[in-house]
Amino acid sequence: MRTRVAIVGAGLAGLSAARSLMEAGIPSVVFEKSRGLGGRLATRRTELGPIDHGAPGVPVDVALAAGGGVWSEGPENAQGIGIPGMSALARHMGQGINVQREITITEVAETGDGYSLTDAAGALHASFDAVIFAVPAPQAAALLAQQAEMVEAIANVRMTPLWTLLLGFDAPSGLSQDVLTLADPLALAIPMLSKPGQIATERWSAHATTAWSAEHLELEKEDAADVLLKAFMAVTGLAGTPDYLAAHRWRYARVERALGQPFVANGTGTLLAGGDWALGALASEAVASGRAMARRVLENFRG
Ligand SMILES: Cc1cc2nc3c(=O)[nH]c(=O)nc-3n(C[C@H](O)[C@H](O)[C@H](O)COP(=O)(O)OP(=O)(O)OC[C@H]3O[C@@H](n4cnc5c(N)ncnc54)[C@H](O)[C@@H]3O)c2cc1C
Repeated sequence: MRTRVAIVGAGLAGLSAARSLMEAGIPSVVFEKSRGLGGRLATRRTELGPIDHGAPGVPVDVALAAGGGVWSEGPENAQGIGIPGMSALARHMGQGINVQREITITEVAETGDGYSLTDAAGALHASFDAVIFAVPAPQAAALLAQQAEMVEAIANVRMTPLWTLLLGFDAPSGLSQDVLTLADPLALAIPMLSKPGQIATERWSAHATTAWSAEHLELEKEDAADVLLKAFMAVTGLAGTPDYLAAHRWRYARVERALGQPFVANGTGTLLAGGDWALGALASEAVASGRAMARRVLENFRG
């Protein structure tokens, strides 16, 4: 049987859509530009152990939807956490799904036989009855440039950037291993050792403020790491330098203004776009959007 649906993006929204389609017996293929699954559920593998540089935790229902992960005790602070890192949740969710990695989709075209996609290497992927774009709003708008109404709807969405600082220490730094609330340019720092199922080395992920991130978005990674490390040392009193140091730029990290509906689609429900930005700022909203897009596509197949 022909693979009828293409999904662009193997974050929570894309994987949730693929999983819902799979459960309904409709094969799909997911194209993902990165090497790993998960998008903003991201874990950097370092020589000192994994560091979550995207979402530090997600609502518990996301871990349940993924079929893996644990959640911390206490109903008020319940969090879905992947082990050994957050991207493990996406790997659970991606089981059995056809994900084509390291393929960046650059164009969609309508052909006599559905839709074809072109990737950054110039290869053509054909033919699909429907295409789901499960990528951040500005990236969806760029890919759907020919679809004026969809682009207009997506233009109302606002997403903010975020720099994160990744630190690792061969020997304990002396800092307490609790989540720290910091001062500008840093917002907070999360020690990996505060999470379940970790190896013993000390690792941190610190988030810059949205304002600082927006103002310094085009810094080189090394320069951002340098500035943020100095700020981290000043505010925490850390004396020694870390043995692992990096900075990661999320150009589209958090949703400031959502679309207000689960997805945007063309009139026939054959081109769809969604993600967390459709419904809100949380990972659970990415899952809800992905599932809603799959349901819309299934309506077409059921006639
Ligand atoms: C620093 C940070 C902290 C966060 N904290 C929290 C939190 O505490 N709680 C919470 O609930 N949520 C949090 N979030 C938000 C949460 O991570 C997101 O809501 C969720 O992961 C979004 O999933 P998504 O599938 O919509 O998008 P993404 O995860 O962005 O997935 C999109 C995917 O599409 C791929 N892609 C993009 N363009 C293309 C292309 N042209 N071709 C192929 N592939 C493409 C990307 O590589 C990516 O894998 C945080 C996010 C960040 C960055």
